[in-house]
Amino acid sequence: MNMFKRIPKTSARATLGKIALICVILMTSSYGAKESYGTKERISASLTVGPMFSGKSAKLIDDMESCKESGKTTIMISYCQTPIVRSRKYPEIAITPQALSGKESESLYETLESYIRTPSGGEPPEIFVDECQFMTVADIADIERFSRKHNISINFYGLDMDFLTNPWPAIQNIEGRFNIQKLTKLTSTCSICKDPTAKYTARYHFSVEHPEINGERCRTGDLIVIEGSGHPFIYQPVCEDCLWKDLPFALLEDITRPK
Ligand SMILES: [Zn+2]
Repeated sequence: MNMFKRIPKTSARATLGKIALICVILMTSSYGAKESYGTKERISASLTVGPMFSGKSAKLIDDMESCKESGKTTIMISYCQTPIVRSRKYPEIAITPQALSGKESESLYETLESYIRTPSGGEPPEIFVDECQFMTVADIADIERFSRKHNISINFYGLDMDFLTNPWPAIQNIEGRFNIQKLTKLTSTCSICKDPTAKYTARYHFSVEHPEINGERCRTGDLIVIEGSGHPFIYQPVCEDCLWKDLPFALLEDITRPK
């Protein structure tokens, strides 16, 4: 007696069919991934990085103004309530998380599409993203989709390293997805020794609840601390030599004195 049960022919055919279908799906999805990340297909972008107070936002404004002078329209996206956003000089083009939060159903892609419904025949706008280290994976994918559709390049500005000197994941994602044709690295003045080549941003304790540790260099902690949730820290640009030092008391007083 045959110990193995014969598989009916129809069932075998169905199984083969399923395997073939899975193969097609796998091939399609890997092809899709290659198309997004392949060197040839990547959309060009410029990236300006540096620590706090290194002039990234000033450069963004300069770049945006010269873009406007050449007759192009511009859109600025900011991921923070930066002085530029607060100045309301560019209110019609600033897209902040607060502005987006009112439109939770919309993605960044849809928001950008709604912003560019300009008179037909006009050139697509050039996009400037401030504080791009705060971009989510979904937003970076959206902005890539948008730039691919309209064949426009994007200009990113942000911190390259976090307070522990690790690269910001969003910056790595941008570098992977886009063809960075122009990379600008800015430096700042070290808060502690005044070295003009500071490239790091350090986080220090500063809170009303625990004044005894104010000025101490933070060596652990969450990457992003949402403003308004106590925010018991201050940030300063520092050089390599001063990277892990605490803030001198006089300097701390000077920085935190109400202006
Ligand atoms: Zn220094």
